[in-house]
Amino acid sequence: MLTTIIVLIIVLIVGDFASTFFYHVPQHVWFKLHLRTHHDRRRSYWDHAVLSISPAVLADGLLGALPYIALAALLWHFSPAGALLGLILGQFHVWWRHTTELGWRTPRWVVALTRPFGIVLPEDHDGHHRNPEIEFGDIFRFYDAPARACIAFFRAVSRGTRRRKAALRSAMRRSGRAPVRRKGPVPSPGRG
Ligand SMILES: [Zn+2]
Ligand SMILES: [Zn+2]
Repeated sequence: MLTTIIVLIIVLIVGDFASTFFYHVPQHVWFKLHLRTHHDRRRSYWDHAVLSISPAVLADGLLGALPYIALAALLWHFSPAGALLGLILGQFHVWWRHTTELGWRTPRWVVALTRPFGIVLPEDHDGHHRNPEIEFGDIFRFYDAPARACIAFFRAVSRGTRRRKAALRSAMRRSGRAPVRRKGPVPSPGRG
C-alpha cells in the first residue's frame, strides 16, 4: 500500500517536473506546436485539450504526457497499481483542469483541501490559457515560479545570441567579406 502511494506520488510530482521543464517551458521559448494547439485562442480550450483528435493537438498532448508515461514504465516494477493510478489520476486532472470553460466552479471545500498541496485548480489553469506567461505546472503550482524564471533566462540568452549573430552579419556586410576562420593554432613568429 505504502509503495503504491509513493509510486503514484512520484509519477505525478516528478512527471509534472519533467513535463514542465523538458517540454512545456522549451515549447514556450523556442517552439510552436504547443502555442499553436494548446494556446490557439480561436478555439475553445475544452475542445482542443479534451475533445480534439487533430494530429497536432494529439502530438502536443502525447509529448507533454511522455514524461509521466516514462516514469510509470520505470516504476512499474515496484508497483504496477501505483504507476497505473498515477497515469489515470494525471489524465483525470487534464480533463478537470479544462472545465472552467464549461462553466464549472471549484467548490470552496475542494479549494481549501487542495491549496496546501499546491494542486492546480481549473481556475488556475484557466489563467494559463488567458495569459500564456503565467500559471505553469500541469498539476502542481509550485513549478510556476521556477518555470517563469527559466523562460525569462532562456529568452534573454536567445536574444543575446540573436543580437550577436545580427551584429556579426552586419559587420560582414560592411566589410564585404566573410569572417576569416582560422584552422589550427595561431602562428607566433619569434617564439619556439
Ligand atoms: Zn490547458
Ligand atoms: Zn502553455
